[in-house]
Amino acid sequence: MTIKHHPPEHLLAGFACGPLEEADRLAMAVHAGQCPTCRRLVKALEQMGGAALEHTASFPMRPHALSEVLAQVDAKPASALGDTRATSAHDPDLPNVLRRCHFGKMRRVAPGVKMQPIILPGTDKSRAFLLWSAPGLKMLDHTHSGTELTCVLKGSFTHEGGYYGPGDFDYGDDDVDHQPIVGNDEPCLCFVAMSGTLKGNGWLGRIVSPLIRL
Ligand SMILES: [Zn+2]
Repeated sequence: MTIKHHPPEHLLAGFACGPLEEADRLAMAVHAGQCPTCRRLVKALEQMGGAALEHTASFPMRPHALSEVLAQVDAKPASALGDTRATSAHDPDLPNVLRRCHFGKMRRVAPGVKMQPIILPGTDKSRAFLLWSAPGLKMLDHTHSGTELTCVLKGSFTHEGGYYGPGDFDYGDDDVDHQPIVGNDEPCLCFVAMSGTLKGNGWLGRIVSPLIRL
């Protein structure tokens, strides 16, 4: 796995040291599980936070944030999240951190596109889902009102930002207007964390975007 695209610094720092929305935190856990470079960076940030804590009681960093988050995700009991079926739990393409999540119903949102929501334990308004796209598919041309974090789990896509393969992390915010095209070789499976809403452009976007809203 050659990873070329990593999360921006503010997300790495937030993951190591501070609050992140539930879906964003899960996206960071997925990427940290795939990417040794970012794992090392997060550990270093945690250690810096731990060292700083020895000197000031009010320093906001939390030591061991990465291992805490991974342990929390691992340990979340099924009963705490109701009786939702983890229909994707046995998918061999999913990393462990996602296999333990609970999923809503899978649905087709457009020709060649399926999505399955992930039920998050927190109460914030962030959303997370898995997205399957057919090979060669031209995705919806869209912008965002918030952020969209995408972790490629299988397959690939390209857009103005370059080529994104397994392990790559795509950060989109309201400055980004893009239209990903899925690689021709195989279906693309992504984990997506969203805050705000996705806004489709053009007539197809206007039809499809209400369906993508979770
Ligand atoms: Zn990375």
